Amino acid sequence: MQQFDKDLVIIGGGPGGYDVAVKAAKHGLSVALIEKHEVGGTCLNYGCIPTKALYRNAEVIRDFKSANEYGISFDNYSLNFNQVQERKSQVIETLQSNIKLMLKKAKVDVIYGTASFIDEHTVTIEKNEEETTQLTAKYFIIATGSTEKVIPIKGVNYDGVYTSKDLLDVDEVPKRLVVIGGGVIGVEMASIFHEFGSEVVIIEFLDQLLNNFDKDISSRLKVYLKKQGIKVYTGTAVEEIEKLDDGLAVTGKNKKGKLVTANGDLVLMSTGRRAFIDGLNLTSIDVSYDQNGIKVSDNFQTSQPHIYAVGDVIGKEMLAHTATYHSYKALDHMLNFENKTNFDVVPGCVFTFPEIASVGLTEEQANNKYEDIKVNKFMFRANGKALSMSKTDGFIKVIAHNNRLIGAHIIGPHASDYVHEATVLIEQGIKILDAVSIIHAHPTLSESLLEALRGLIE
Ligand code: FAD
Repeated sequence: MQQFDKDLVIIGGGPGGYDVAVKAAKHGLSVALIEKHEVGGTCLNYGCIPTKALYRNAEVIRDFKSANEYGISFDNYSLNFNQVQERKSQVIETLQSNIKLMLKKAKVDVIYGTASFIDEHTVTIEKNEEETTQLTAKYFIIATGSTEKVIPIKGVNYDGVYTSKDLLDVDEVPKRLVVIGGGVIGVEMASIFHEFGSEVVIIEFLDQLLNNFDKDISSRLKVYLKKQGIKVYTGTAVEEIEKLDDGLAVTGKNKKGKLVTANGDLVLMSTGRRAFIDGLNLTSIDVSYDQNGIKVSDNFQTSQPHIYAVGDVIGKEMLAHTATYHSYKALDHMLNFENKTNFDVVPGCVFTFPEIASVGLTEEQANNKYEDIKVNKFMFRANGKALSMSKTDGFIKVIAHNNRLIGAHIIGPHASDYVHEATVLIEQGIKILDAVSIIHAHPTLSESLLEALRGLIE
């Protein structure tokens, strides 16, 4: 029998890589994790965590601005942006050292370097310009993530045209920020930097922000962003970025052919992400991929059955939690364990003001799939907790078929914290009549889900 250096080599130390490395080692496999940058991947280093650390600062600013409403007066506040960035870095460092400790305790061999396949059981790892090593393994998991997709428009290479990664690390708040792309990253960054004091303009090619979300949610978000003072142009194709004496000018055309111009000190390109397979040498080992990413089976096996691929690199939802759950399923398949994870029911959250959280089918998708759906909305202004918090913007929209919940879409305070109840109801196929007989504590925001569900059966 062929001998290998390791049972399992994982390429990429993001959410699709580090957790499964620990899990596999706990199951007795000898595991190496190869990471070319820092453990934690995009999520921890320049994605979920830094954005949410900055979001918290923005939230505190909003609370200060509305303090008078609560009978609290103060003269003014000032923003020490160095401290904002320092707090963000500390959060990242703490989580990074937790991950490193976890990997060390599990005896995962962490190798820093860039991996590339030389045959279907061997990778070379370029540690630096002088040092290269090789490793063989019985199984591989490719979890190399994604990178920014930049649209090829004129002026895209000018200084001041930033990716989300660049924008997260700025030393000072830009006076004017133009955001190209109104997807999740675009609207989150727009919301955060608007609270920091930037004048923000969002330009989105499609007719709605957050294209994959329920239309009611997207259009309500647009209303709230505009009310907050963010300019939003949807259905507008950006054509060019020009350099001015004082910054950059972004020009585009809307569907009626009208010119739209927005000037900024910085321009954020948040026009999507693409699977990152550069340098892996997949063609030479017959691992199939297309423009969306590496092709996998339901068990996350690639066209080479001992090589699995998970997370952003397979080009599906591109969420940190799905990356991790993909990797668990891949490991369970390797070990012949049962794994019933249902990848059709995945909650997604957007950290705007207010938050958005969504799971299951949108109304449009539900209508395409079934003839007889039921839809109900419950407004947060009728919820006691939301009223007592003075955070009454938004609603919960629920969609049912055959007396069961099939979609829930929330725009409202702390939406990300209680979307999971709807996730359980959908995933487990619990009857709405049974769901509404479960006692909920009062006063809570999650009572709103109950109220929305009640409206479906009354
Ligand atoms: P990654 O996290 O991208 O990790 C891949 C790792 O592989 C990287 O560390 C990279 O250095 C390494 N690598 C690549 N090639 C090689 C190689 N050849 N050799 C060795 N190492 C290699 N998702 C959420 O669920 N919630 C959020 O709030 C959220 N916010 C986001 C905000 C922003 C600004 C961005 C950009 C993304 C956000 N995401 C969020 C998406 C989330 O970050 C990704 O879905 C997630 O990180 C994907 O995990 P992954 O393990 O597939 O890849």
